[in-house]
Amino acid sequence: MSHDPLPPKLIEELRRRSPKLILLRLPEGLRPKCAAIAESIAEATGAEVIASADPCYGACDISPEDAEAVGADLVVQIGHSPMRGRARDDAVIIETMAEEDPGPLIEEALKLLKSERIIGLATTAQHIHQLDRIRGILEASSKEVRIGRPTGWAAHEGQVLGCDYSAAKAVAEEVDAFLFFGGGRFHALGLGISTDKRVLAADPYEGKVVDLMDDSKRLLRARFAAMEAFKGAKRIGVLVGLKGSQKRLRGAWDLRALLKRKGKKAIILSFRDLRAEALLSFSELEAFANTACPRIAIEDQPAIGRPILNVREVMVALGELSWEEYRRDPFSQAMG
Ligand code: SF4
Repeated sequence: MSHDPLPPKLIEELRRRSPKLILLRLPEGLRPKCAAIAESIAEATGAEVIASADPCYGACDISPEDAEAVGADLVVQIGHSPMRGRARDDAVIIETMAEEDPGPLIEEALKLLKSERIIGLATTAQHIHQLDRIRGILEASSKEVRIGRPTGWAAHEGQVLGCDYSAAKAVAEEVDAFLFFGGGRFHALGLGISTDKRVLAADPYEGKVVDLMDDSKRLLRARFAAMEAFKGAKRIGVLVGLKGSQKRLRGAWDLRALLKRKGKKAIILSFRDLRAEALLSFSELEAFANTACPRIAIEDQPAIGRPILNVREVMVALGELSWEEYRRDPFSQAMG
C-alpha cells in the first residue's frame, strides 16, 4: 500500500519544533518504507533520525525513555492518532494518508450487505480521511450511513481503538450492520463483540472483505471458556506493561488485592514488550490477569495454553461484574 511521502502537517510541525535528533517509531505496516520516511524527514528538517525497531502498537505506546536512551529530543510516531486529551511536548503523533481508492472494496462489501439498510462505519487512524468517500459510495447505493462520535481515547468520528469502541457503540442501536475499513482482524472482531452486530471487515492491505459474524461468536465463546478456566486457577500472574498509557500500575495492585481477597495467590509481572514465549517459563502460574493492552489477552492466549484475561474478564470470573455488564465494554481495561 502506498502512502504520501510525508504528511505536510508533519513537516510543518517538525520545522516549528526544530529537533536535532528524532526517534522515529512506525507500526508494522509502515516499516517497509522506514528508510524512505527517515530520509524525507532528514531532508525536510535537517534533523538526524534514528528509527526504533521495537514494536509500536498505538498512540498509547510512545516510549520517551527510548528517546532519552539515544539522546533524541523528539519522538515522531506515524500511523496513529494522538489519544484524546493526551497531547505531549516530547512527541509528534500523526496519521498517515493511505492513498488507495477504497471504492472497489466497498463495492465488494455492498454485495454482502443486500438486506441491511443502515450501515455503521468504523475504521482506524490510518483511514479516517477515507470515511467520507466510503460514506458517499454507500449512500449512492441507497444505504443510510451512521458514523459515531467517540467518548474514550479515540480522537476522530468513526475511529476505533482496540480498547475504545465508543464511536461505534454510539450508533450501534441504529444500525443493521457495521462496515469496518482497515487492516487486520483485531479491531473488527472487537467491534463485533462490543456491539453485537454483524461486522464486515474490508481490509485494503489484503484486498478482501470478510464477514466476521461467526468469528466474533467464536471469540466470545473462547473468552467465556477462559473466564471459566480462570475461576479454578490458584496462582495468578498480574501483567503490568511499562510503556506509556498502557502502564496501569495502580490498577495492577488493585487487581492483585482483589485476587487475594478472593483466595488466590497473585504476583505482579512487569514487562516492556511482552512476547507470549516469555510467559511460558512462569509455569507455576496457572493463569494471567492482563492490565496492559487488551490485544495481549486476545492474541497471545492460544500460544500460552493458559487463560489470559483482561481486567473486566477477571472481574466477571471473580463474580464482581455480570456477563451483561462485561458485554457493554469487553475490551476496556477499567475495573468497573
Ligand atoms: S492499549 Fe492497545 S488497543 Fe489500546 S490504543 Fe494502545 S495499542 Fe491500541
